[in-house]
Amino acid sequence: MNQIGSTVPLSTNKHLIRWVEKMADLTKPARIHWVDGSEAENAALCRQMVEDGTFIKLNQDLWPGCFYARSDANDVARVEDRTFICSLSKDAAGPTNNWVNPFEMRRKLKTLFRGSMRGRVMYVLPFSMGPIDSPMSQIGVELTDSPYVVVNMRIMARIGLPVFQEIDKDIKRVVPCMHSLGAPLAPGQADVPWPCNPDKYIVHFPETREIWSYGSGYGGNALLGKKCFALRIASNMARDEGWMAEHMLIVGVENPEGEKTYVAAAFPSACGKTNFAMLIPPAGFEGWKVWTVGDDIAWIRPDDSGQLRAINPEAGFFGVAPGTSPKTNPNAIATLSRNTIFTNVALTPEGGVWWEGLTDEPPAECLDWQGNRWTPEIGGTS
Ligand code: MN
Repeated sequence: MNQIGSTVPLSTNKHLIRWVEKMADLTKPARIHWVDGSEAENAALCRQMVEDGTFIKLNQDLWPGCFYARSDANDVARVEDRTFICSLSKDAAGPTNNWVNPFEMRRKLKTLFRGSMRGRVMYVLPFSMGPIDSPMSQIGVELTDSPYVVVNMRIMARIGLPVFQEIDKDIKRVVPCMHSLGAPLAPGQADVPWPCNPDKYIVHFPETREIWSYGSGYGGNALLGKKCFALRIASNMARDEGWMAEHMLIVGVENPEGEKTYVAAAFPSACGKTNFAMLIPPAGFEGWKVWTVGDDIAWIRPDDSGQLRAINPEAGFFGVAPGTSPKTNPNAIATLSRNTIFTNVALTPEGGVWWEGLTDEPPAECLDWQGNRWTPEIGGTS
């Protein structure tokens, strides 16, 4: 195992250092890496994942800064049925959530996490949801044994040294986020490209503002700043403090007279929120401007005058690819043409990516998300 990153704490916060020690004692990682968030660290992690087979580097002339990953076939989506809200009272979990008694769940999690990081690196990943030092932002630290999570979180949130500096000021409460793939390595055991565990638990303790995620390396199951923090935990903070954490896009609109309006809109997952958020004024709206503030989550708070103010707590875009094309969303295509991590799409012979709807004509052949040869004649998405 080559040495990337600092093994020395990058924070002076005694509570944080103590918690990291306690969790390392529980999960038994081979090494601890304090994430500084630098370009060099990111490049080293990506290089290491290419060596380990988790990442394929795409053709850099066509897709600069882009990487490609294929997940395990049993780890391809958020797992709502394995997502738990462990509030003290069952009623506080809400009618549509899975509730488990928090004392019972804590016992279960201790068993699952005991030794779960053996043979792996535990990354100490500080992140800010919202701009660092904004009064509307919230801070978390994710302990994870997945380098894929670290490089994804670097896109989706503000991470690294500036966040440790914010934590060291000891002003804001830090949300502890535990994440393990649940795939410890015995000495000498070979790793797989996408380690995970068939048994998955995505757990929230709303009263203590804690997140524990086990068994999945995929998307919102593993990037804990997004659904787990910015929606589920933040909606509890918001209820207690008089604001709102909503599954909403935010788009800015300016008319030809220069009058600005912001629109927040709620839609379900994977139904085209991003296309709406990245709208280009259609014909007949010459002189209008539209810009994307957020495509998934809005934190909304009334100011002193009662006027609603909002931020997008995220820093990047996490999108569902099928149907995204220069026709349906030219801004998304421009955004994903560089420095993007593609997961579970098709790989073309020239080292590019493809998905249904990207082009009118499918490529003559490519490899599908499981690495099998795909042609338009074969068809299908499995
Ligand atoms: Mn969403």
